[in-house]
Amino acid sequence: MSDRTFWENKLGHQHFIGHAIIDGQPYIAADKQVFSVVNPATDRILAEVTACQSEDVDAAVKSARKAFNAGTWSGLAPQDRKTVLLRLSQLILEHREELALLDSVSMGKPVNDALNIDVPGAAHVIAWYAESIDKIYDEIAPTRKGVLATITREALGVIAAIVPWNFPLDIAAWKLGPALAAGNSVVLKPSENAPFSALRLAELALEAGMPAGVLNVVTGLGTETGAALGLHDDIDAITFTGSTAVGKAFMQYSAQSNLKQVWLECGGKSANIIFSDCQDLDLAAEKAAFGICFNQGEVCSANSRLLVERPIYPRFIDKLIQKLNQWRPTHPLDPEARMGAMVSAAHKQKVMGFIQEARNAGAAILTGGSDLEIEGIASYIQPTLIGDLQEDMPAWKDEIFGPVLAVRVFDDEAEAIELANNHIYALAASIWTDDLNRSHRVARLLNAGTVSVNTVDALDVTVPFGGNKQSGFGRDLSLHAFDKFTKLKTTWIELS
Ligand code: NAD
Repeated sequence: MSDRTFWENKLGHQHFIGHAIIDGQPYIAADKQVFSVVNPATDRILAEVTACQSEDVDAAVKSARKAFNAGTWSGLAPQDRKTVLLRLSQLILEHREELALLDSVSMGKPVNDALNIDVPGAAHVIAWYAESIDKIYDEIAPTRKGVLATITREALGVIAAIVPWNFPLDIAAWKLGPALAAGNSVVLKPSENAPFSALRLAELALEAGMPAGVLNVVTGLGTETGAALGLHDDIDAITFTGSTAVGKAFMQYSAQSNLKQVWLECGGKSANIIFSDCQDLDLAAEKAAFGICFNQGEVCSANSRLLVERPIYPRFIDKLIQKLNQWRPTHPLDPEARMGAMVSAAHKQKVMGFIQEARNAGAAILTGGSDLEIEGIASYIQPTLIGDLQEDMPAWKDEIFGPVLAVRVFDDEAEAIELANNHIYALAASIWTDDLNRSHRVARLLNAGTVSVNTVDALDVTVPFGGNKQSGFGRDLSLHAFDKFTKLKTTWIELS
C-alpha cells in the first residue's frame, strides 16, 4: 500500500487541467471567466478552470453533432467501437493512481477508496458496455405474411451528461459507457467541485482512438454551463445525476427548448429495515454503519433512515454505535482513511445545520454530532446517529448527504413498510431478515429502484440502478441503460 508521502509527492507533481475539451482540442471559454476548484482537506485552490457559457456550450454541441453526422463514430461497426472503448478501459487502469488522486483531492474521498473502488469500477463499466454492444440484436415483428417489419435501435444523436461530485469518475463512466457504445456523441459536464477526472478521461479517450468531437467536456457552473446544456436546441437527450431540485430544472429547460428527453437520477433517503428475526445483528450493524459512512455519507442511495424492530432496538443501537465509532474521519490522502473530508465548507455547514436543527427540536444525538478539525482544517464530521425523531423533522424528511443516520423504532412489518414508503424519495431500500417469505413479501411492497436483502446498497453493472418518485426515472447500469440512449425505429416493408 502506498503511504501518505507517496500521495503528497504525487500531488506535488500533479498537473490539473484548466480548460474544457471540445472537438478534441483544449478549449478556453470565449469570455475567459474561470472558477476555482478547492481541495477540501487543505482549503487550497487546486486550479482555476475555464467557465463555459452558452456560446462555448454551443461550440461543444456543434462539434458533437458534426461528429455524429459524419459517422466517424456513430457509423462504425459495433465491434470497432468496442475496440476503442476497451482500449479506454485499459488506459483508465494504467492511469489508476492519477485518476484516484484527482477525485480524492477535489472532493475529499479517501484516496484508497478512489484507487480500489472508483477507478477499477469505471474501467469495468466502460469495458462491460464495450463488450455488450456487439452482442445486441434487433427484432423482427410477428406480422402477417407478405410483410417484413423490423424494429431497430438507433443511436439518439447528441447526449448531454451532467454529473455530480460524489463519484466524479464513476458516474461519468455510467453515462459514457452505454451512450458511447451505442454510437452517440456526448457533451459531458462534470461538477464544478470535481472536474479533473472527467477532463483526463476525455484525453484518454482521444488517446484510445476515439475521434475528435465524440466526447466533449464542458466545465463550469451549474447555473451557467449546466443550464446552457439544458436549454440547448440541438441536444437529443439529457442524462442527469444530481439533486432533485436541479433535476426538476432540467425538465423545465427541456419544456422551454426542444423537448429533449430527460433522464434523472436524483436524491435519496434510503430506508434500512432491521427485523428482529435477523440472526446476524453484528453484520447488520456493520453494514448499517458502512451504509451511512462510506464516501462520508455523500451517497445518493446511502442508508440514511434506519428502522429497527422494537425487541432488538436497544441491543442493535449499542452494536451500531460501536461500529459507527470505528469510522473515524481521517485525512483523505492517508491510505488508512475510511472516511475523508466533506466536499466543501458550505456543504459541511449544511450537514451540521441538520444536526443542530434535530437537537433543537428535541431529538437525541445518540453518537457523534460534532465537526472535527484535522491538520487545522475543519472539513470533517463525526459519524452521527439521531434518535427520538418524528417523521416531519428535516433529519428524517430531507436528504442530508453526510454521515448522519436517523433511526426510528417500529412494532410490526406493516408499520415498517409504511414508514419506509412514506417519503418523497424512492431510490433504494434494505431489509435484514432470516425469514425467506418475509424477504420476498417486503421487497415487493417497498417502493424503491433497488431492494437489498441482508446487505446494503447492492450495486453492480449487471443490474439497473435508479429510483422512483422524486429520486427520478430511467436507469443507469445494466443493458437497460441502452434504452435511454437509443430510439426504436419500425421499418414496415410490403413484399410483393
Ligand atoms: P447538484 O444537483 O447540485 O449538481 C449536479 C450537476 O448539476 C452538477 O454538474 C452541477 O454543476 C449541475 N447543476 C447545478 N445546478 C444547476 C442548474 N441550475 N442548472 C443546470 N445544471 C446545474 O448535485 P451535487 O451537489 O453535485 O450532487 C449531490 C446530489 O446528487 C445529491 O442530491 C445526490 O443524491 C445526487 N446523486 C444522485 C445519484 C443517483 O444515482 N440517483 C447518484 C449520485 C448523486
